[in-house]
Amino acid sequence: MIPPIAGRFVAGETPATALEHTRRTNADGVKVILNLLGEHYDSREPADADATAYVDLLSDLGRTDLDACVSVKPSQIGLDIGEDVFRENLERITDAAAEHDEFVWVDMEDHDTTDATLSAYETFAEATGGNVGVCVQANLRRTRTDLERLVDVPGKVRLVKGAYDEPEDIAYTDKADVNESYRENLEFMFQEFDGGIAVGSHDPAMIQYATDLHDEYGTDFELQMLMGVREDAQRELAEDGYEVWQYAPYGGKWFSYFYRRIRERKENALFALRAIAGV
Ligand code: FAD
Repeated sequence: MIPPIAGRFVAGETPATALEHTRRTNADGVKVILNLLGEHYDSREPADADATAYVDLLSDLGRTDLDACVSVKPSQIGLDIGEDVFRENLERITDAAAEHDEFVWVDMEDHDTTDATLSAYETFAEATGGNVGVCVQANLRRTRTDLERLVDVPGKVRLVKGAYDEPEDIAYTDKADVNESYRENLEFMFQEFDGGIAVGSHDPAMIQYATDLHDEYGTDFELQMLMGVREDAQRELAEDGYEVWQYAPYGGKWFSYFYRRIRERKENALFALRAIAGV
């Protein structure tokens, strides 16, 4: 069982707990992106099993009135084994989503996976008429060029700062440069996209910038934040009328995800220590 301190960041270990969390979060006006924890499988069995779990989850979602979708990691459904395995499993998932009228996001992993991920996104976004989204990372120098290529693809694009340590020749490594790239790429999206923009950030400055760009260009957008991070802001923004999605991971492989969350920010580590100490 997940200890209560990890339960701040993870929606339980089973689809049932994830759906329960979704119902509670929806009641606050916040929609939910469900991610089954798992990545970097080097054999077919777990990759196929996680793809099947997503197919089943989409079927479960189809029987509810919940505001939810799923987000999948390429290496979770076979990219480390081969691009063909990844595409085969993604097709199973996007077919199930189409059958149940649900939406599928594809997360972006390190730079070695960018080409295969974008290419699969293009294929399945076209095939489903836009029922798929992909994540792009502001820390990668290539992202502006990638966005130019994605302008006419039906579907959604989530812009994040980037969670992977990348070499300096292909990525901005200084925080200020990443922020500047985030702003430039976001402005390009508001100028050139017809909609389908997802702002994947907790940064109040980036969220304010997105609302300013919306006022200037009128393009529709949504905000996305992680479960357990600035949840008050998530609820307040939803109350103010913004479309807010919470990315909520679930599943048995919760420990490394929880550990990453508490390491990345002093406040999260203090929260964990306080919970352990019972103060
Ligand atoms: P940061 O630069 O980390 O922080 C900026 C400011 O935001 C802080 O100064 C503070 O004011 C506020 N803030 C940030 N965190 C907190 C906190 N815990 N509590 C209070 N205030 C805080 N990365 C990928 O590489 N691939 C993906 O597919 C991907 N998907 C994502 C999906 C979603 C929905 C989100 C939210 C992030 C995703 N990321 C992904 C992670 C992303 O790349 C960043 O690593 C992560 O979001 C941290 O950057 P940030 O923009 O939130 O702000």
